[in-house]
Amino acid sequence: MLERQTNWNIMRKYIVKRDGLVCRACGAEVTLKRFQPNTLHIDHIVPIAKGGDMWDETNMQVLCGACNLSKGSKTMEEWEAQKAAAAERDRITAMITQEEQAMPLFEGGPNAL
Ligand SMILES: [Zn+2]
Repeated sequence: MLERQTNWNIMRKYIVKRDGLVCRACGAEVTLKRFQPNTLHIDHIVPIAKGGDMWDETNMQVLCGACNLSKGSKTMEEWEAQKAAAAERDRITAMITQEEQAMPLFEGGPNAL
């Protein structure tokens, strides 16, 4: 366990040296301070849960905390699709007013069409 932790610490430093203190997804500068939206995270590009290799440096990248939490255990393709869908929803939402957004979908109760 101690050896694995040491290996992880060394791997983490190598990935930071390679990628710099910059989120590879959003370009934000990352920080070593804990519990910030831009806290440094090391992401497994193909999640371990989806068969990605935990110790392969080509499967690792620096992300900010916000991006890593958003990505979760999704692949980059799944994450990009989710972000595109959210952007499309936001684009459509911006075209209707607050009043229109608050309108009920149907009149006359839940069973009415
Ligand atoms: Zn980011």
